[in-house]
Amino acid sequence: MVSWIEPHSHGIFVPPAGAWVDPGRAVDRALVTHGHADHARGGHARVLATAETLAIMAARYGPQPGGQAAKPHETVRVGEVDVRLVPAGHVLGSAQVVLEYRGERVVVSGDYKRGPDPTCAPFEPVSCDVFVSEATFGLPVFRHPPVRAEVAKLLAARAANPDRCVLVGAYALGKAQRLVAELRQAGFDAPVYLHGAMVRLFELYEALGVALGDVRPVGTLKGEALKGAIIIAPPSALADRWSRRLPEPITAMASGWMRVRQRAKQRGVELPLIISDHADWDELTATIAEVRPGALWVTHGREEALVHWCGLRQQRARALAMVGRDEEEIGE
Ligand SMILES: [Zn+2]
Ligand SMILES: [Zn+2]
Repeated sequence: MVSWIEPHSHGIFVPPAGAWVDPGRAVDRALVTHGHADHARGGHARVLATAETLAIMAARYGPQPGGQAAKPHETVRVGEVDVRLVPAGHVLGSAQVVLEYRGERVVVSGDYKRGPDPTCAPFEPVSCDVFVSEATFGLPVFRHPPVRAEVAKLLAARAANPDRCVLVGAYALGKAQRLVAELRQAGFDAPVYLHGAMVRLFELYEALGVALGDVRPVGTLKGEALKGAIIIAPPSALADRWSRRLPEPITAMASGWMRVRQRAKQRGVELPLIISDHADWDELTATIAEVRPGALWVTHGREEALVHWCGLRQQRARALAMVGRDEEEIGE
């Protein structure tokens, strides 16, 4: 069995490459799957990632002098290991890290989903000896409805309340842009207003070729001017002083966790929207069945149910204990 990768609580070390995948601390050489803060940290001496992920890291942490961009599917030799980045369908620039060494192949998926997302390239299954999968929503209770239906709910709530605005909490990298792209696909072409903390990443998406239509900062607008508006803010801003000047906001939240009614209630969310950038139970199990790895390693999330599911199907699997890896949690 594959013996040349070492899972640690703060990342996966690949000794023959002398490199870490998504290390949680600054290292000499990092292979980074995507720009979320729990995968991409600042301060690495050298970083291999997609051009989009490097741009996101630069926006967050400043210039990345040690950054090396790899095109999708391009093979890059790192130490004695051949490395390829293959789209993961999670957020713009997200990639699975495919590692090949002495005839064995390991795929570290980072985070992924299988549902449609107009803002990034879709996940591509790669057969392998070891597949390292996330399990953020690794329980059968988690089944994400079609995004279109959730977006229709948002538009219906807006239409039914012309004197109010809809304030949507959405994670600032990926979820917020995907939500706007989905609104555009649904035919909504009015301006979408952004909390100030969102603006830079929207500009970056535009600069990287993801068209999101008319988006503008809320700025100093208030009351009357925002009736009927859709406003997107980081989840942490929903209950802020900031939201008090908005006209009777319908508080919404776009998150896979909105499947859990108690969570929506706790946060005072009037309009829960079940929209996630992570695979749900069906996507996780379908992906494992499709990739058919020699062994599955399950990381960050609810590992037990997935490992049990594998056991019933004679699929080898083990849970990896990794910490601090749940941006949907952090984002809320
Ligand atoms: Zn992520
Ligand atoms: Zn993650």
